[in-house]
Amino acid sequence: MKLTSIVNVILTKDKIGLTYHTSPDGDALGSVLALLQGLRKIGKEAYVISKDLVPENLGFLPFSQEINGMNFKPIEGTDCVITLDCGSVERLSANLADFKGTIINIDHHLSNDKFGEYNYIDISAAATAEIVYRILKLLNLELDENIAKCLYTSLVTDTGSFRHSNATTTTHEIAGELLKYSINHSDIHSRIFDNKTYEKLKLIGVVLSNMYLVQDNKVSVMEITKDMVNKVGITLDDSSDIISFGLQIKGVEAAVLFRESDEAIKVSLRSKKDLDVRKVAEVYGGGGHVKASGVTMKNITISEAKNLILNQIEKEMIL
Ligand code: 5GP
Ligand code: MN
Repeated sequence: MKLTSIVNVILTKDKIGLTYHTSPDGDALGSVLALLQGLRKIGKEAYVISKDLVPENLGFLPFSQEINGMNFKPIEGTDCVITLDCGSVERLSANLADFKGTIINIDHHLSNDKFGEYNYIDISAAATAEIVYRILKLLNLELDENIAKCLYTSLVTDTGSFRHSNATTTTHEIAGELLKYSINHSDIHSRIFDNKTYEKLKLIGVVLSNMYLVQDNKVSVMEITKDMVNKVGITLDDSSDIISFGLQIKGVEAAVLFRESDEAIKVSLRSKKDLDVRKVAEVYGGGGHVKASGVTMKNITISEAKNLILNQIEKEMIL
């Protein structure tokens, strides 16, 4: 379906809920909050549905104060729910099981179940925010500083500060336009990345000193056990910055991080060049992108999870 058709569907709706994937990151939040503002500008009754709280370092995003982690479901009279940056119903930060209205699924993940009545998936978009940007343009909306701040945060987050290969000419052009709305890009970068607690840095230290290489030193393996987190004395909301260290090693082609919690083992995978880590994650019910994927494995120990995932990586490396 074309994006203009999606926009035409949105225009027929009045009360619109917006949601994203669970544990929302900068792209999820930036996309939802930018679209929230855009829809309100054209007179829609838009609001955010979120089981999750906003991570502390993203609390600077305009309108993030409206998210308190208590809105699990669409409110009475909602015509439409737009899901952003999420490939499956199970990963949504919303419960849509009883929702009878229209679901519009807008995303950039290669793994997307197309669970909406309308789906718009553009895997060439570096961030879902690129699609939101196009929607705002199709709505003939004038951007402003608050919207620009949200969209810019999304781009920075999903491109690893414009260094991943997903960042295209379009990404850079959009970023360039956003800077015209007097946002302070350096400040945004600092708020996102230079905002870790001392304890988190200490935890990174522990994780790095326990890191090891396998498969001819092509794969780096890291783990965050409950024990490590308890010892450092923090609650860890996000570990995506930790895994990036694994790829910084010369000769390493893929990095894997296993994170233990009471409920499951969360596995994050990253690759530098050719290895498709999305395929590895999909074998165990996860997904994501070619160079960044994840999977949540239940009823399994960390060492069992390691065996399964590392074997799968080995198979994928040979292909
Ligand atoms: P991260 O490792 O930062 O949590 O996630 C990396 C990428 O993999 C993201 O694009 C994210 O959407 C995807 N991903 C992470 N965990 C899961 C999961 O449990 N299931 C699916 N389908 N995708 C995931
Ligand atoms: Mn994204």
